[in-house]
Amino acid sequence: MLQNVAVGRSSLDTYRASAGDEAVDELRRLARSLEGVRVLHLNATAYGGGVAEILRSEIPLLRDLGIVARWKTIPGSNEFFSVTKAIHNALQGGTRGVTPAEWEIYERTSAQAAANVEESYDIVVVHDPQPLMLRHLVGPRDAVWIWRCHIDSSEPDPAVIARLTPFLSEYDAAVYTLGSFAPPDAPPRRVEVIPPAIDPISPKNIHLDDTLATEVLDWIGVDVSRPLLVQVSRFDHWKDPLGVIAAYRIVKRRMPEVQLALVGSMALDDPQGWQVYREISTDAADDPDIYLFTNLTGVGNIEVNAFQRHADVVIQKSLREGFGLVVTEAIWKGTPVVAGRAGGIPLQLADGVGGYLVDDVESCAERVLDLLRDPAAARSLALAGREQVRRRFLLPRLIGDELRLYADLLEQHPLPPRTPAAAAVSGEDRDPVCGMRLGPHAEHLLSHDGRQYRFCSASCAREFAENPHLFLRTALRGGR
Ligand code: UDP
Repeated sequence: MLQNVAVGRSSLDTYRASAGDEAVDELRRLARSLEGVRVLHLNATAYGGGVAEILRSEIPLLRDLGIVARWKTIPGSNEFFSVTKAIHNALQGGTRGVTPAEWEIYERTSAQAAANVEESYDIVVVHDPQPLMLRHLVGPRDAVWIWRCHIDSSEPDPAVIARLTPFLSEYDAAVYTLGSFAPPDAPPRRVEVIPPAIDPISPKNIHLDDTLATEVLDWIGVDVSRPLLVQVSRFDHWKDPLGVIAAYRIVKRRMPEVQLALVGSMALDDPQGWQVYREISTDAADDPDIYLFTNLTGVGNIEVNAFQRHADVVIQKSLREGFGLVVTEAIWKGTPVVAGRAGGIPLQLADGVGGYLVDDVESCAERVLDLLRDPAAARSLALAGREQVRRRFLLPRLIGDELRLYADLLEQHPLPPRTPAAAAVSGEDRDPVCGMRLGPHAEHLLSHDGRQYRFCSASCAREFAENPHLFLRTALRGGR
């Protein structure tokens, strides 16, 4: 089996205050025709990076809308994730390429993951290149398959995209953050543009007052009485951490009291992170005012929230970027951002609204200095960007766009009629929660309404017990 990522429950109604009643009501309306549809989101890691960040918030809300949503990850070794990082870099325009031996590892591990797909779904959303081959290896299985690309793949390495194109062409649709991100000659039958979004009420983004944010950073060891620059990012060359340090050094020559924190998470599917971390540590070793923090030493969501709120300026000096959730996260908190003019960043940040766009180290330093010298102007600049975040980059908008796509694709690709047995209500054939085929001896049993159901695991049985109606509705969808 693929690895299930357990997420808690949440209610869309708690988003009324931040996203507005209209947005929430619209989602409930859109979801009506999708009740009971089984949707799998498949990616490579349950933590670290923007995809995990979004899925952690989105899956419970899809369930609250009556969709049988699951989040699973493909298993992979460090070796496999080094290869998929090479593919990721090549899609982003890197020139290192992918060697024949690496393709062999990619295909072998993908085949192992594909052999673990035992469940059945109506819609499978595959995120990024790591699980991309699964559609080819698993076959359609009566599902609609969507490739959700979070990478700016507008200028991919030609050899790498040529190798992936046959797999991509089997998808029913591909979704990109910006229209321009689709690779030239993008093969899927349908290309959609859906920008990501942040969760305004997650611990990462929930309101923290100044006192609490300051106390958190004081405890971490930052001098809260001096100006602070922050970049929050995976440790990745495309996020240009050494460029950030270079810009900070220019600022420091003119404003010696300034400090810099580089806050980075280590993602399971990004083994290059440690190598970049070591390069940064070496570069920063002679300056006690440069702090390096990671999720592995306790800098989690609340701490990132505190950094993004307390910082005088948030920097995101990316050279290439899919979207860069961190930019919207900072603007939402009223903190000005100086960011590289790359990928999806200009979509979030018009130069002069929410912050500034820069193209090199020197202009980054200049813009940071402008903001540090006039904190009142910096604050109003940041707040000017907040309304755009509310309108365009909060989670309910993202979910709405996705629901419209799901409904539309299912209309063109009606679900095949399901007999009760195939849909598992008879309890003879499949787990009604995850759709997995059951052997004759599945031992997790539950009775509901005088009928017995069997499950592949205790967690599926528990999920069913909490809301049997949801899963029985799934079964009854057949032949819509
Ligand atoms: N992040 C985090 N801790 C860190 C570094 C990053 O929680 O130390 C989060 C960050 O707040 C954001 C996500 O990871 O929500 C990164 O997403 P983004 O789109 O900016 O970049 P990606 O890593 O997907 O390239």
